[in-house]
Amino acid sequence: MIPFLDLNQVNAPYLQAIEDAAVRVVRSGWYILGNELKTFEKSFAEYCDAAHCIGVANGLDAITLILLALDLPKDSEIIVPANTYIASVLPVSYLHLTPVFVEPDPRTMLIDPARIEQAITPRTKAIVTVDLYGRSCEIAPIIDLARMHGLKVITDAAQAHGATYEGEKVGTWADATAFSFYPTKNLGALGDAGAITTNDAALAEKIRYLRNYGSVIRYQNEYQGVNSRLDEMQAAVLSVKLPYLDGENVRRREIAGRYLRELQCRELTLPPADRINEDAWHLFVVRHPRRAELVAYLEKHGVQTNVHYPQPIHKQLAYKEYKDLHLPLTEQIHEQVISLPLNPVLTDDQVAYIIQTLNQFDHQ
Ligand SMILES: *Cc1c(COP(=O)(O)O)cnc(C)c1O
Repeated sequence: MIPFLDLNQVNAPYLQAIEDAAVRVVRSGWYILGNELKTFEKSFAEYCDAAHCIGVANGLDAITLILLALDLPKDSEIIVPANTYIASVLPVSYLHLTPVFVEPDPRTMLIDPARIEQAITPRTKAIVTVDLYGRSCEIAPIIDLARMHGLKVITDAAQAHGATYEGEKVGTWADATAFSFYPTKNLGALGDAGAITTNDAALAEKIRYLRNYGSVIRYQNEYQGVNSRLDEMQAAVLSVKLPYLDGENVRRREIAGRYLRELQCRELTLPPADRINEDAWHLFVVRHPRRAELVAYLEKHGVQTNVHYPQPIHKQLAYKEYKDLHLPLTEQIHEQVISLPLNPVLTDDQVAYIIQTLNQFDHQ
């Protein structure tokens, strides 16, 4: 069986260095808000060409802390993509802001700038964009729209470490960008971890307070903050892996390129082939009208796949107040998407086998 993702294999090349880093942290006697975090924040900011990086506990908190720092009025409407993982939207709800779901461009499956414009009302205060599957959304026109209407832009780049748009890294476009280092992401820790990048010094400083009870000097609290810190152990692991991220993304692009050139199957929609080298290819998401059949066929032939995601947010029980909302593009995407294995440890033979197997689907 070709597994969808084997984290043991993904981390195997770095095992010795990770173990050395772990021993260093254990022996340091300092486990929260120390030098490992400072070092990682500095290198991740540099990696993203961003002025500031603040390490936090996870990707969900990264989005929440940005919104918390922006301190938007309670009845604000926040534009969010309808096609995304629920973590992009939950922070909006936590803070008693109103998510306004916007349909994607069916070609990229990412939020459609033209539809954003239609959704803006006098109550709109911010846009959450998501670089879903590893590809940057159409961020330049979105930033223009935001400037024109006085809106903040927050990017959820949890799936897009290292992706670029017009040659510039995803962590620099928005007012602030949220990253997750959940173990399966392109840059993955060995537990929960996240970060925020921004070029806004005041926003960065406020987030630094907010992630630590609203305090940067012990027992002196400027804000009602939360506890959301990236710990020393995870920071040390991330510092080991960060130098290899670009190389791993190159390998992801090679595999994506082969899939795009060689997959041939009737009714199969491939992801867009433009900007192959700007995309971080966290996931390779294809669409097929007979998804269940294709998934079962691949499984039977030893190829494990996944679905990102099976149910749209507005159809989840957690968002039952939106259940009558009709978002046909998003709903169709959720019925048809299949993620094929794409990770830096897939071998050329495995990629060839996946292509050959899928190309036989119409001829079985
Ligand atoms: C993983 C992910 C998150 C949440 O990250 P956590 O670290 O698990 O909290 C948010 N948004 C997207 C798009 C993700 O893929």
